[in-house]
Amino acid sequence: MPDMTPGVASALSPLVRRIVAPNPGLMTGPGTNTYLVGIDEVAVIDPGPDDAGHIEAIVGASMRERVRWILVTHHHIDHSAGVNRLKRETGAEIVAFGPPKSVQADWAPDRKAKDGEVIEGTEWGLEVLHTPGHASDHLCFFLEEERVLFTGDTVLSGTTAVINPPDGDIAAYLQGDPGRVRRPPHRTGEPDPRGPGRGAEQDRRSRGQDLHRRPRGAPRHGGEVGAGPSAEAEVGRARLGARRQLRLEGGLTSPSAPASG
Ligand SMILES: [Zn+2]
Repeated sequence: MPDMTPGVASALSPLVRRIVAPNPGLMTGPGTNTYLVGIDEVAVIDPGPDDAGHIEAIVGASMRERVRWILVTHHHIDHSAGVNRLKRETGAEIVAFGPPKSVQADWAPDRKAKDGEVIEGTEWGLEVLHTPGHASDHLCFFLEEERVLFTGDTVLSGTTAVINPPDGDIAAYLQGDPGRVRRPPHRTGEPDPRGPGRGAEQDRRSRGQDLHRRPRGAPRHGGEVGAGPSAEAEVGRARLGARRQLRLEGGLTSPSAPASG
């Protein structure tokens, strides 16, 4: 299992490295996972807490001029508090859906993320999925080249997500993303939205990539969720946990929320 020592960049795959922040706790498990995607051009997914040592570890692992994007899965402070410090260090573009207007935050995105857009580095593309539920501004990111889904707090490793109203919406969560998680973004015969020339499906197929393989999950807290049945088990566990929470709170809050399944 890759190293989960805080401050140490551990390689999870050719394109993905993880640095665990030094903020272990009941809500954060071993600590917030900060992911670095790419080599020549790097996207940092969730800077984590505003901790000088942690931000230094991110910059040191990626070389400051290579960090092009700071991507934020959602506004909760264990994910986003370090945004401004990392921005100061790197000048990278902050891309996020939030923070929501109802939340007082001391940071703002340089550009608001769009559901379905693809952020493209030199050797990779990250598809943006808006996945409200745990938080209204929640985003997942899908790394197509390695079929890794960065799940933020929608699916956690070995535990269930906490959904706190009013910004958290359990009905939205239950109607949410697992179906999209398992669906490959581009099907055979469909034009690649990234256009011809670079990243077209045929190119990736010719490089021997299995475009219909189920994605692996890279959650915000805890270790990786494996491909296939174990990833599905984690999605099932997350949904079961949400339903239990719902029962404790006295029922569904939205008439359109599913009763089962
Ligand atoms: Zn959260």
